[in-house]
Amino acid sequence: MQHRIIVLGAGYAGATVAGRLARRLRREEVAITLVNAEPDFVERVRMHQLAAGQDLKPRPFREMFAGTGVGLRLAKVTGVDVDRKTVAVIDANGAEELTYDTLVYALGSGWNAQDVPGTTEHADEIASRSGALRLRERLARLDAGQSVVVVGGGLTGLEAATEIAEARPDLDVALAARGGLGDWLSPKGREHLRKIFGKLGITVHEHAAVTGVEADRVTTADGKAIPAAVTVWTTGFAVHPIAKSTALEVTGTGQIVVDGTMRSVSHPDVYAVGDAAMVMGPGDKPLRMSCASGAPTAFQAAGAIAARLSGGKLPNVPIRYFNQCISLGRKQGLIQYVTADDRARQAVLVGRLAAVYKELICKGAAWAVANPTFGLPTRRHRVTREPAVANSAVKALV
Ligand SMILES: Cc1cc2nc3c(=O)[nH]c(=O)nc-3n(C[C@H](O)[C@H](O)[C@H](O)COP(=O)(O)OP(=O)(O)OC[C@H]3O[C@@H](n4cnc5c(N)ncnc54)[C@H](O)[C@@H]3O)c2cc1C
Repeated sequence: MQHRIIVLGAGYAGATVAGRLARRLRREEVAITLVNAEPDFVERVRMHQLAAGQDLKPRPFREMFAGTGVGLRLAKVTGVDVDRKTVAVIDANGAEELTYDTLVYALGSGWNAQDVPGTTEHADEIASRSGALRLRERLARLDAGQSVVVVGGGLTGLEAATEIAEARPDLDVALAARGGLGDWLSPKGREHLRKIFGKLGITVHEHAAVTGVEADRVTTADGKAIPAAVTVWTTGFAVHPIAKSTALEVTGTGQIVVDGTMRSVSHPDVYAVGDAAMVMGPGDKPLRMSCASGAPTAFQAAGAIAARLSGGKLPNVPIRYFNQCISLGRKQGLIQYVTADDRARQAVLVGRLAAVYKELICKGAAWAVANPTFGLPTRRHRVTREPAVANSAVKALV
């Protein structure tokens, strides 16, 4: 009987795990099913571009996974029962229950409204394709001189504000940040950021914690009202809520707690990768939700599952940061080099070259998902053992 592996979510992390597993294990011995709600791969790192009016290359999963041995199931996951080892899904034909031997949970994240009054009614988001497309329509309807406020001074906020300001120089674009503009960057990085924001005419409201959103304005903790015909909310991501409704051990925010092999600490048949997983990185700091963290978690999970099933050696993929790649519109970028635990070093790369570098990173990430098995050894391992069997090497990684 085949060992049934179900991967939930075909984002950067889930698609990578499925492709790698297909390359590592013998097709006649494992059945790998990748479940995703949408038929196309969503390049989330480009959602600000989509919102600003650019068209993205369609990337249908059916083409991406043709001939790989990965079974694609286009359906929405509605529940997971980790005790019965089942996943509830629904598609146009109705509801169904799928049974797994090993589960990889990679449902990613969405926007985080943070319970600020008015956000869900009035603010737009760019954490999902549907959100980005909605914002795109709203921006297209704005007349010259109307105001757009991007709330959130993190990487996504910086990218959104600059992309919108570059695409629509006729609009009055502002950014509201809880701290100072790019205050975690090196001095050179901050300087470049200010220069580009100045050139693009973006008004910056620093130390402005937004406490309310209305149809035509946002209000800050110190009582200031900032006019906003459109508010773009980018204050971090919230993980998919399904994990929290299961018996899995999760953090307060709903991320699945995993060990160093990406295996759930409460349910050894379940792995979590990408934004959905709570992974400790260098310096004993949790990894931030990003592709930069998601890719190595996917490599680690795929390697660990294959090793446990085939009795091989557990991998120990280094999980660390090298840089933060920030697009500042299509013509400018900022590459901030960082320490392994994500603190800014002095060195930065700025300007057009940085924009090209960032574009190559985005292209490379999508290409890696579209070619999930490229470059991997073709030798497939036999399934020799059940995944739940304790392996002494695991303890060393935990
Ligand atoms: C505008 C923007 C810019 C960003 N820029 C960068 C960057 O420059 N660098 C970087 O490292 N990170 C960046 N990120 C963050 C990065 O995109 C995420 O961290 C990354 O996408 C997480 O990957 P993932 O595979 O865990 O989840 P996701 O990419 O979110 O994938 C989850 C998948 O699960 C599917 N899914 C969700 N719910 C269900 C369900 N109920 N049923 C079935 N399928 C479901 C989704 O359709 C999706 O395919 C950016 C994010 C945004 C929004």
